[in-house]
Amino acid sequence: MRNKKIVSLILIFMIFSYILMALMPCFELKVYAADQAAGTLSRDINGIDDKLYPGYKKLINDLKQKHPEYTFLVYYTGMDWETVINVEYQGHGKSPKNLVQLNDNYNGLWICPICGIQKFDNGSWCCASKDALEYMMDPRNSINESDVFQFKNLEGSDVTYEDIARVVAKYGSYINNDEVINAIVEASNTYNINGYFLVSKIINEHGKDGSTLSNGQGYKGNYVGYYNYFNIGSFGNGEATIINNGLSRAKKEGWNTRRLSILGGAKVVRESYITEYSQNTLYYQKYNVSGRSTIGSHQYQQNIMAAQSQGEDLKEYYDGTTSVKEYEFIIPLYKNMSSKVSVRPDVTKENKVTYQDAVVKNISKTLTVRATPGLSGMAIGKIDNGEGLKVLLRMPEPIDGYYWDMIVTNATGMYGYAARNVNGESIGIVGGHTVTQGSVSKNPPKEENTNTNTNTNTTINGNTTTNNNTVGGNTVLVPEKEEIKISEDGKFIEMTPITEIEFLNKEYEDKKVTVKDSKGTEITEGKLGTGYKVTIEDKTYTVVKKGDVNGDANINIADVINVFDFLKGDTDLKGEFEQAALVKSEKIINISDVIKLFDYLKGDTSIGL
Ligand SMILES: [Zn+2]
Repeated sequence: MRNKKIVSLILIFMIFSYILMALMPCFELKVYAADQAAGTLSRDINGIDDKLYPGYKKLINDLKQKHPEYTFLVYYTGMDWETVINVEYQGHGKSPKNLVQLNDNYNGLWICPICGIQKFDNGSWCCASKDALEYMMDPRNSINESDVFQFKNLEGSDVTYEDIARVVAKYGSYINNDEVINAIVEASNTYNINGYFLVSKIINEHGKDGSTLSNGQGYKGNYVGYYNYFNIGSFGNGEATIINNGLSRAKKEGWNTRRLSILGGAKVVRESYITEYSQNTLYYQKYNVSGRSTIGSHQYQQNIMAAQSQGEDLKEYYDGTTSVKEYEFIIPLYKNMSSKVSVRPDVTKENKVTYQDAVVKNISKTLTVRATPGLSGMAIGKIDNGEGLKVLLRMPEPIDGYYWDMIVTNATGMYGYAARNVNGESIGIVGGHTVTQGSVSKNPPKEENTNTNTNTNTTINGNTTTNNNTVGGNTVLVPEKEEIKISEDGKFIEMTPITEIEFLNKEYEDKKVTVKDSKGTEITEGKLGTGYKVTIEDKTYTVVKKGDVNGDANINIADVINVFDFLKGDTDLKGEFEQAALVKSEKIINISDVIKLFDYLKGDTSIGL
């Protein structure tokens, strides 16, 4: 009886604690949980869990020490880092979400290999690579004196006429004039929005000396007397389209003075970015992780540098300020980031991708493309039967019962993961060849070289194949040979990556040769894969195709991952698959096999027996 009473008391206490915790979420999270709920804004910098969000705390505290006037808010996005990056990596070949201006400083690994040197926007912009995205979006690369202003809270009006006059003095007359300076101060006060931010926005859109959309001269005789100081609604591919769209919007809005254009544009920025979507920093306006709408939607600009370069302007404007200002920075925290900060893409290395052309079939409705492999991956979009796509990576193992291939669709450039086996049927039909495509090298190639591809598995005269892409003029030719060898124990028939059935037939001309794939189906031509069976007269051998570690008959990044996973102890490789992984070493798989396989994929080496 007494025990029962104690139990009841404990129960009541527990229920009471639960209610208390539910009513006081901050208390609960702070005391009991290492992580914070998605959407939490916190000033508690020392409360950041360094295990969950590595590196942030020190960077913020270091900056605070240098600048006691700075205050920081951390924003727990609740978002997975890889998901955020993949959701941003969209629109390939059509309208990329992120563009980089191709020049000596932004080249090589900055450029998306799927799009290569295809030009977008006004003709000098290329699709930005995933490496570039990671580097620019990783907040830890920007929690420093020069870059932190992209996180500055843009709400609040804290500028005078003198402030604006001072910062625009070095720019052209299109912005350095009384009407514009007064209009910026008026817009800042009216819409409670940072005045320096309005200046940086205008400079970012029109440069120091202005452009067609800010000079009131119209375009090709149309829209004379209209201004669009914030380039509202000016989008599209090609200069004419961009200008016409922007001026047509200005006319529709009645922006026939500089003042009206600035007030009208600032209102759009305030309402549609800050009020509606909480995109109250330059960073959120470029990379929308504010949580009020779908990740990555509603971005202000495609330029991957937009937040950083406008942030630099903001900093410069504040540096010359004399009156006391507000310095509040809002730093987003992502889940599952590496403790290693994302590195700056190397401009000297060529970015490459290998893919297979495929077509979707055998699905009953539509197929969901997800940001990460597995059913819990965030849905990005759908694809239909008959849609063409590129398979960038064949997933070697199933997750949630499906093999999630990394794909990019031909129609819209949607990038993500899609299940290749649905209802037991295969959905990706390989078009028969593998394409290795490069981006750019140190010497940017001429326009006409765009989309120059060389098939990797084309056999020329039965003996040699020249591999590798020719984009950029730095073609590396590594000759490969078709070659076969029966292993000493008589179990395996080993072959080089490019060896095909035709070669086998020629080698054993006078003998009866049959080949069966891993499902036991007899095949008479083309590629072989590790695990296939070859019968010569009455003796059967298991195929070891060097480099084809997963037995899908292709050699690509999935094989590298397989070997790497084996070395980490995450997966096992036995028999013919173990033999296939031994591309460099003789008996025991080690890291040199991973490196060799990777170099092979890059076209820097060949694989022999
Ligand atoms: Zn791209």
